[in-house]
Amino acid sequence: MARHVITESKRCLKCKNARCTASCPVETPIAEFISLYLDGKIKEAGEMLFRNNPLSVVTGLVCPQSELCEGSCIRGIKSTPIEIGEIEHYISDYYLNVMDIKPEKDLDHRIGIIGSGPAGITIAFLMALKGYKVTIFEAHDKIGGVMRYGIPEFRLPKSILERLKEKLLSLGVKIRPNTLIGKVITLDDLCRDDYKAVFIGTGVWKPYTLGVKGETLGNVHFAIDYLKNPEVYALGEKVTVIGAGNVAMDVARTALRNGTKDVTIMYRKTMKEMSAREEEIEAAKMDGVTFELLKTPVEFTDDGIIYNKLKETADGFDTDDERKLYETDSIIVSISQGPQANIISTTGGIEVSQKGLVKTNDLGRTTREGIFASGDVVTGAKTVVEAVKYSKTVVKAMDEYIRNKYD
Ligand code: SF4
Repeated sequence: MARHVITESKRCLKCKNARCTASCPVETPIAEFISLYLDGKIKEAGEMLFRNNPLSVVTGLVCPQSELCEGSCIRGIKSTPIEIGEIEHYISDYYLNVMDIKPEKDLDHRIGIIGSGPAGITIAFLMALKGYKVTIFEAHDKIGGVMRYGIPEFRLPKSILERLKEKLLSLGVKIRPNTLIGKVITLDDLCRDDYKAVFIGTGVWKPYTLGVKGETLGNVHFAIDYLKNPEVYALGEKVTVIGAGNVAMDVARTALRNGTKDVTIMYRKTMKEMSAREEEIEAAKMDGVTFELLKTPVEFTDDGIIYNKLKETADGFDTDDERKLYETDSIIVSISQGPQANIISTTGGIEVSQKGLVKTNDLGRTTREGIFASGDVVTGAKTVVEAVKYSKTVVKAMDEYIRNKYD
């Protein structure tokens, strides 16, 4: 691994107006951190990455690099782009073991963070480094949000999240696991207890349903639920995933790794309309996932999926009325997800969109004073690096708000 990282690092041309950095949502100083690394300063390179993006060790693994930094690498024009993600992950992984940064000062202001997904963890690190007293409220027993319960182990080892947790604790961050805000404790209780600002980063955990007959049967499941702990599901030998996004590919590949022999993706259009990234589709194919295209489910039964066939026409897709059975043991519905309403149903003043997404201004301020939000609960399901990007803006806004109001 180290040899490969060195070889790749040496291929970097250190472009002045680096297109890779411009294409990275968090503007990672790629040429700079690679130079530090090649100069024997891996710790400094790691610190540079961490301060710019506390989840660098994660984004190096899970970013869609071919659409971002690596997709813009000048080396890619005549040959292959530099494997920036791998270099970034390697250095950040090393740095996580030696990191010894401390808060700039000790501020006497308490802030609350609801949800410990990519947005919540980014804010927790950056606010703790500024010296704030940070408490994270996490509904699950472990931190990580979508990084733990939505991204499969083979793409992101969970041990990384445990190491990030240790770093948060070492910076003085307090974590309350198994605490769903909006049930026993509400947002109003946090305001009562002198949290100077509260951040909502609760993500999107409510699966969208197809609304077809049979969706409550015992052999039907939802993708975001399945990915939380695939090992507890008894799916049988043949599984069919409905949907064609990145999550559907993750579900299909996870099922194959958890004992299912035969996994099919059923989709109502053709390969070219699929919303999953090309490399995710390719990886699913390589794993042995098969595709049933131009089929739309109209009912689920104990024996499988009743579907209509579709055909491509000049105006789009037309469905026939003939119902056929596609036999399968289990069905996993993967057609995206939206936010749950635990917080906003138990407190006032926070406006949400029709889809239930929290409304904020460009700085992440919600419609209630002192309450901020970012990540998927604001934007809908996006990538980890996008959550980091918006959360960096929110950190500035929260810090400014607290200093203006309380200092
Ligand atoms: Fe590339 Fe993602 Fe790292 Fe940015 S954060 S340099 S897009 S891997």
